[in-house]
Amino acid sequence: MERTFVMVKPEGVQRGLIGEVLRRIEQKGLRITRLAMGRIEPAVAAEHYAHLKDKPFFGELVEYITSGPVAMAVVEGPNAVRHVRNLIGATNPLEAAPGTIRGDFAVELPYNIVHASDSPETAEIEIKRFFGAE
Ligand code: UDP
Ligand code: MG
Repeated sequence: MERTFVMVKPEGVQRGLIGEVLRRIEQKGLRITRLAMGRIEPAVAAEHYAHLKDKPFFGELVEYITSGPVAMAVVEGPNAVRHVRNLIGATNPLEAAPGTIRGDFAVELPYNIVHASDSPETAEIEIKRFFGAE
């Protein structure tokens, strides 16, 4: 069993896609074990996207992710990290295949509806970052 962290980003919440994202995760056969609405503080956003801090779009990315409420979930299941990454599709909506969340609902970076952890190690760090210690 593995855990991953999923976030419906501000434009996903604004467009009413929380249910759609969670539905696809549940339909796949994964279990949602924690769920919360929240707003990301700029300092937490900067930490979350620290791997991109040298990119020219970093400032806009922090602004984007802090621009409105987000929905956050912990998702569990066998190979949950890779399954959810498959469900969300490629980072760039232009490369995300139809049938994936980003492929079906997004057109242009940075707006790609959803975040999901990229490894089990990252997932544990992100769950702690956004949900705190158990
Ligand atoms: N992003 C962007 N331009 C890029 C790469 C990434 O705007 O060239 C944004 C996009 O919203 C992406 C987020 O930064 O989801 C985090 O990037 P990462 O490479 O971690 O992609 P992800 O794990 O979200 O697929
Ligand atoms: Mg990432």
